Amino acid sequence: MASNNHVVIIGGGVIGCSIAYHLAGAGVRVTLLERGKLGSGASDVAAGMVASLSEGFTEGEPLKLALESHVLMQEMLPQLQKESGIDVEYLCPGILHLALTKEDEKNLEARLRWQEPLNMGVRWLSAQEMYRMEPALGEGVLGSLFSPQEGHLNSRRLVRAYAQGAARRGATLLQDTEVKGLLYQQRRVSGVRLTSGDLEADWVVMASGAWTGMYRDWLGVDLPVQPVKGQILAARILPSPISTIIWHGITYLVPKADGSIVMGTTREDVGFNARTTIQGIARILSNAIDLVPAVAGAELHRVWGGLRPSSPDDVPILGPVDGCEGILLATGHYRSGILLSAATGKRITDYIVRGEETSLLPFSLSRFTS
Ligand SMILES: Cc1cc2nc3c(=O)[nH]c(=O)nc-3n(C[C@H](O)[C@H](O)[C@H](O)COP(=O)(O)OP(=O)(O)OC[C@H]3O[C@@H](n4cnc5c(N)ncnc54)[C@H](O)[C@@H]3O)c2cc1C
Repeated sequence: MASNNHVVIIGGGVIGCSIAYHLAGAGVRVTLLERGKLGSGASDVAAGMVASLSEGFTEGEPLKLALESHVLMQEMLPQLQKESGIDVEYLCPGILHLALTKEDEKNLEARLRWQEPLNMGVRWLSAQEMYRMEPALGEGVLGSLFSPQEGHLNSRRLVRAYAQGAARRGATLLQDTEVKGLLYQQRRVSGVRLTSGDLEADWVVMASGAWTGMYRDWLGVDLPVQPVKGQILAARILPSPISTIIWHGITYLVPKADGSIVMGTTREDVGFNARTTIQGIARILSNAIDLVPAVAGAELHRVWGGLRPSSPDDVPILGPVDGCEGILLATGHYRSGILLSAATGKRITDYIVRGEETSLLPFSLSRFTS
């Protein structure tokens, strides 16, 4: 890459902000454009779990990406927090995956078989050991899989920390600035179209989350990214009845650093509609109360919904697009964008700065077209 190249990033969620932070750290001239406020897509809504073993990646390159990002995140946070002046409230209490039925037990045992060799301390807890660790769990739990190295942070703060860190490293971040189209010279991207005029760019990174699929006409190729709504809520009960993350099926309870408990979630295929519903919130609450009965007495603080960017195989789409030189995709992070933000920022930066392509190849858009 020429030293004066300009990279424009579309989207100010956790992915766009992490890429801006990493690129600016490598001395690259960066402008990030966000049509609303930073984090206003899925990122501010997330439960903030940094859970490389629990987000559904079970093998191959997606699992490697998740594990790499988990390590990078832990290594990077002290520096990020220092540079940005923002505490992202990272805690690592571990996750308890509960077995309520024999079927759950079988599934968790299968998980233990592939996770044990990773040497991350994952182990089976008998009912007795588990209730000793978390006495407030509901009755009748058969046992649980304990994953001690998984944790959580405040995703809203993480977005601001990446953004602030990027700005301190020299990046320009513009909010309320919507990209309306791409500009090309021959087959290479040369900039983006804004309502206020055109902005030149040598590279454009599309980190536009669940909306990326709407921009297929800009590239002339199908971009198979769809929104999947997730609802979530925060409540407070002091002292908190739990100290580890409690997880069963798609229900989890995350005891946050500020004393609140975040509870999720739903997975709904309802298009671009992030509204919360009585049914969605009622289902989360009912499941959460079954798992930890004491939360029935908690004070409800906030409910909110967000649109996860999902790809057909639930794995991110990263890297260049055949026939559209200078454009990079960084989207499709579905349920794991907070976790994967660190490795995504690093790998996209390595590609732009050093042409390092190998680490992006398994995540290429071409896996859906060839
Ligand atoms: C309920 C819920 C819980 C979750 N929990 C977790 C969790 O515990 N751990 C985890 O790792 N992940 C979690 N996730 C997933 C995570 O939130 C997402 O994977 C991640 O936020 C995606 O980040 P993003 O930057 O790709 O997208 P977004 O945050 O949606 O950002 C995309 C941005 O692009 C902007 N944009 C779009 N088009 C344009 C345009 N034309 N011009 C300018 N800007 C544009 C949008 O306004 C938006 O701000 C959760 C998600 C939900 C919904």
